Amino acid sequence: MRRYGKNPDEDDIRIRPNRKGNRPRTHTRPAHEDAVEGFVLTVDRGRVTCLVEHRTVIAMKARELGRKSVVVGDRVGIVGDLSGDKDTLARIIRVKPRVSVLRRTADDDDPYERVVVANADQLAIVTALADPEPRPRMIDRCLVAAYDAGLSPLLVLTKSDLASAEQLLDTYRPLGIPYLVTSREELQSGAATELVRKHLDDHVTAFVGHSGVGKTTLVNALVPEDQWRTTGHVNAVTGRGRHTTTSVLALPLSGGHGWVIDTPGVRSFGLHHVDPSRVILAFPDLEPGTADCPRGCTHDEPECALDRWVADGHADPIRLDSLRRLLATRERREGD
Ligand code: ZN
Repeated sequence: MRRYGKNPDEDDIRIRPNRKGNRPRTHTRPAHEDAVEGFVLTVDRGRVTCLVEHRTVIAMKARELGRKSVVVGDRVGIVGDLSGDKDTLARIIRVKPRVSVLRRTADDDDPYERVVVANADQLAIVTALADPEPRPRMIDRCLVAAYDAGLSPLLVLTKSDLASAEQLLDTYRPLGIPYLVTSREELQSGAATELVRKHLDDHVTAFVGHSGVGKTTLVNALVPEDQWRTTGHVNAVTGRGRHTTTSVLALPLSGGHGWVIDTPGVRSFGLHHVDPSRVILAFPDLEPGTADCPRGCTHDEPECALDRWVADGHADPIRLDSLRRLLATRERREGD
């Protein structure tokens, strides 16, 4: 297959149609030129649901994309039948460069790495203060994944009527993470939604959280009611039942500009792929101190320069403790 648009000479030829050697390009070229932008809402077994203007269009990856993945949050170039009518199938021919990639490995021992969400800039970690008990190690893992991907974390603590948030906040305050504390009543009345919404405008926010923490209630309240009809449509097309337990889904933030990305299947983050040097970028007070670290320093070894950095008063020791705790989660198994 010939490729167009890569070689500037080809454009040159096209605008001078009488030039010797010119060949008609009409068979493939218009497809690329006519590509419109789509935003990937969900992906299910090779079927990609995209938002094109205000329509939902089902598409599949064009062969020319090869092994390049298409994930929720991707901005894609799409051609073909864009009517959105039942039983139509468009083609995705381009994936725009991603601003961010939230990844996970299936397991720390499994180096196979998958992109969960593209182009998000915020990770909302929803955790109940009780019933189910908060799992700080799980929160830490989410934080490491967020920092590695360059996403800003947002901690959403629910069920404050059952237990105090103070103990948990003592752990996370040194990290300077924005947080919200809400009760079950606030979740039901919508007061919690308003609190959360303030942090979501103009952001693409991925939501993670175990079942029973109120994430689904929150996400449902944050997106327009009629969106659920669209979701119903998605399900009708993909043949899946309720989306809530299976696939990552992008939903528009109601009454604002932003996207809410529900990640129901992402219960855990395998962190095999994480590079400590990316995580440390989230610690600008510590990062300069790593200049004197030995090469490949894990920042948890006797020669690590960060101990000196902190001892010299350049940063708060509790920040270094937090960083080390987070980096150590890469070595731990999940589920405890
Ligand atoms: Zn170090």
